[in-house]
Amino acid sequence: MPSPTPYTRFQTTLAAVLEKLKPTSEERSLLMEPQHIHQARLPLTRDDGSATEFSAYRVQFNNARGPYKGGIRYHPAADLEEVKALAALMALKTAVVNIPFGGGKGGIQMDPRKLSARELQEVSRAYVRAFQPHLGTDIDVPAPDVNTTADIMAWMRDEYEKLTHSFSPSVITGKPLSYGGSLGRSAATARGGFFILQELIDREALDPQELKVAIQGFGNAGGTMAHLLHNAGFTIVSISDSQGGIYSAEGIDPVRVEKYKRKTGAVAGEYCEGSVCDVQKMKMDGMQHVTNEALLELPCDILIPAALDNVITAENADRIQARTILELANGPTTPEADAILEKKSIRVIPDILANAGGVTVSYFEWVQGRSGEQWTAERVDNELKRIMLEGYKMVRRTAYREKMSYRHAAFAVALRRILAAMKARGWVAS
Ligand code: GLU
Repeated sequence: MPSPTPYTRFQTTLAAVLEKLKPTSEERSLLMEPQHIHQARLPLTRDDGSATEFSAYRVQFNNARGPYKGGIRYHPAADLEEVKALAALMALKTAVVNIPFGGGKGGIQMDPRKLSARELQEVSRAYVRAFQPHLGTDIDVPAPDVNTTADIMAWMRDEYEKLTHSFSPSVITGKPLSYGGSLGRSAATARGGFFILQELIDREALDPQELKVAIQGFGNAGGTMAHLLHNAGFTIVSISDSQGGIYSAEGIDPVRVEKYKRKTGAVAGEYCEGSVCDVQKMKMDGMQHVTNEALLELPCDILIPAALDNVITAENADRIQARTILELANGPTTPEADAILEKKSIRVIPDILANAGGVTVSYFEWVQGRSGEQWTAERVDNELKRIMLEGYKMVRRTAYREKMSYRHAAFAVALRRILAAMKARGWVAS
């Protein structure tokens, strides 16, 4: 049997939920594959004058509910199978929180850390030139994802406007505030997950002071989440980045970690240089060095994968000690791991709900761009909270009534909304 890919893993969960929803074979075939796959080779002249090329993708999964929506990822692992899976998750994500978009995703298969600032801008503009006919405010609206920033979104909007001789502030979201961005967008993914976590612990009358959290990833989502939780009184026991991380049962101050990350480029930078750590200093501060794999298995109450996919697998799921997993990353848990976690009664708040805050504030940015309005930070925050909690309550109710995991319930809520739109549009018989 061929080994599973991110997309076949997505299809496994999709098929399991469709089994319960009983769609017609016509509906099913529309939901199992993306509507469009666009691919290109992007040429780049390196600073040293040499020529190179990168594979780039834009996958448009489903637009029954509105324009395709989803980020662009720059990563060596961003191949077609990964981008297809991420596009599919976006279609479900926008449906779970009921915002008027479909789902899509883009990627350039490369390591952006190996490019200079000029090269990065050049390849980002080349991406827009390659896919421009398929993009548009009412067609397909990209945004940031792993390794893509507000600056990159600004270059992309600029390139699009030049090519189309238009003013198109809403052709892309996640832009800088100075060029059509929205207040609250950069913190939105973490903030959305935080609202759900708050609601969950309020309902169970738990005290943040007594809850230990481990966070894998210290990028936009993981880093912001660490600050939010720390300020709310939770104890952050472990934080990591792609190079590994630190653990302290007594708690870690994310402000300090951030300072060292900025200075040394690593979360563990206060104690370690590469894999060589100052054991004495660590001991004095009650710290231990942990790998990204070990972080997942630490004693804690809440585990937050906030980096890449496929990290909680059949191999390690059994050793996870947290009682709740909040997925800020996309696709961190495999279907086999899901089954093990369910048996252990570990509650998983799935990616398509937990990290939907980012695309929700992207929606606000899109609305502001179209109307010429500027929302206050307070308005963004209140609306985000309302939408996240509505999504969460709908998923919780479905999970309870239909005796499903939160992931299956989130898929079911989303798929019913997509199916209803497909019927209303006459794509399938109603
Ligand atoms: N990349 C983010 C996600 O995976 C945001 C997408 C968007 O804002 O369109 O949800």
